[in-house]
Order: sequence, then structure tokens, then C-alpha cells
Amino acid sequence: METRGAAPGRLQGKVALITGGTSGIGEATVELFVAEGAHVVFTGRDAERGGSLAARLGGAARFVAGDVTDEEHLAEAVEVAVRSWGRLDVLFNNAGGPAAGDLETLTRADFTYAMDLLLGSVLFGTKHAAPVMKRQGGGAIINNSSVAGFRTHAGQYLYSIAKAGVAHATRLAALDLARFGIRVNAISPGAIATPIFFGGHAALADDEARMAKLKGNLGRATPLKRSGRPMDIAEAALFLASDQAGFVNGHDLVVDAGLSVGGRMSFD
Ligand code: NAD
Repeated sequence: METRGAAPGRLQGKVALITGGTSGIGEATVELFVAEGAHVVFTGRDAERGGSLAARLGGAARFVAGDVTDEEHLAEAVEVAVRSWGRLDVLFNNAGGPAAGDLETLTRADFTYAMDLLLGSVLFGTKHAAPVMKRQGGGAIINNSSVAGFRTHAGQYLYSIAKAGVAHATRLAALDLARFGIRVNAISPGAIATPIFFGGHAALADDEARMAKLKGNLGRATPLKRSGRPMDIAEAALFLASDQAGFVNGHDLVVDAGLSVGGRMSFD
């Protein structure tokens, strides 16, 4: 992908790591960051999709297959960025998926998996990126949270609790790491039409009729009357990653078309 317009990209010379880059918001962000001049390492569990995206983007992107519930995988992804391009300027803790969790049916295993996937991945990703950024004298960490982290609706206990944890982990790290020039911010997306609504199965989202129905449902529940696009969130991540956000720290950027201001939250 080429840089957008004649001006140098907004991430020219920067190295970014994006978790969960094989689908939805993460995939759009990988493409946008490369278009804006960054070198990008991205992760995901689908080796075939990851490999073909990396091939499409040429030498600017590298794929590391693995599971973000495994701390060793996150450490390896940081290492690959440093080994490949000598530094790490941006970490987008993005990977995530749906979590089972109605109060009366949830199990200890559901709880552990949801916390490892949605909150542990953010904490351990930050743990391994921070030392590299400290040595460099700065960096930007972005955590993909959700409006579900501060606005409740029926059910979704584990997903919402974990995302509330992500929001607070963002504030804690923002204060802790600021003295090293590292900014830590969150994004809280609203309803973005991605495979997450199909249990994270990208193949199901390739079904056009199914995706059109989802977009219609999400759009009707959203004040701007359209569903969110992965690129809506990628653009927010670009701003927080860029030097234009140099004085933004500890912020939670809500990108939801006004969904959390009021209105209904049922996507059925
Ligand atoms: P998606 O299913 O399209 O993409 C999720 C990505 O995370 C994929 O690349 C997947 O491989 C990866 N992933 C999932 N579980 C993983 C694991 N255990 N190890 C490694 N990678 C894993 O979904 P999306 O909507 O793009 O979600 C991205 C993030 O945005 C998630 O954290 C999600 O909670 C958050 N979010 C999404 C929405 C929405 O409406 N789509 C709203 C708020 C927050």
C-alpha cells in the first residue's frame, strides 16, 4: 500500500505492533499504519490470513502467528519488531473476541479465558513493550476497550468487566509510564461491523447477506444511522499513535457515533 497523498505519512519512520491484525479493526489498522509510512508487526491466530495480508503489504509488514493469552507470544512479537526494525514506537493492544458470560451459566473457565484474552493481553503486551519504549525515550500504547466498559446492558458480564479493566489499566499505565515519554490511551469503539458479531469467525463475515443484515441492525441502533466501519477505529488509532497526539495521555477516545450518549443498545 502506498502512503496517502504527497505529504510524508503521519507514522513515517515509526515501528508499530498491532495484536489481532488478521481481521476487522486490527486488519484495517495494519493497512492504514503501513499506508501512513509505518513498519508494522501484526499478530493473529489465523496463519493463512496473516500470511496473505503480510504478502499483500510487502516488506513493510511482518506477521507473527500466536495467541495473545500466551505471554511468551506477546514477548516474541515485541522481539520481532525490535529485531526487524530496531525499535518499537507504537503498540496497539487490539486483539479480542466475544466472551460467554451470563451470570447464572458462566464457569471458572469462561472467566479465566475472558480475562486472559481481553485484559491479560493488554497488561502483558504493555509489560513487554514498555522496557523497549523506555530505552528509546518514548512511545505510544493504545488499548482497544469498548463502550461496554462503561455502559451496561443486559448480560455480557465478562466482556464488560474485562473492558472496564482495560479502561482502568490504561489510566494506571498512563500515569506510570508518562515520565518515560510513553503515552497510553484507550479507544472505546461502539458498534463496528466485524466478525466479532459472528463469534470472531471471519469466514462467516464473508457471507454478504449476513453482513448486510448485521450492518442494518447496528445502523438502526446508532444515532448516525450507520454501523461503524473498522476504518473508523483505525483512524482514531492513527491519531493516538501519531505525534499530533503528543499531549494526549490517559484518554479514552469514544468512537461510537453517539451510541453511548443515549438511545437503544439492542442490536437484535
Ligand atoms: P474481529 O473478530 O474482526 O478481530 C479480532 C482479532 O483478534 C482477530 O485478528 C483475531 O484473530 C484476534 N484474536 C481473537 N482472539 C485472539 C487470541 N486469543 N489470540 C490472538 N488473537 C486473537 O473483531 P474486531 O471487532 O475487529 O475486534 C477487535 C477489538 O475491538 C477487540 O478487542 C474487541 O473487543 C474490540 N471492540 C470491537 C467492537 C465491535 O463492535 N466490533 C466494539 C468495541 C470493541
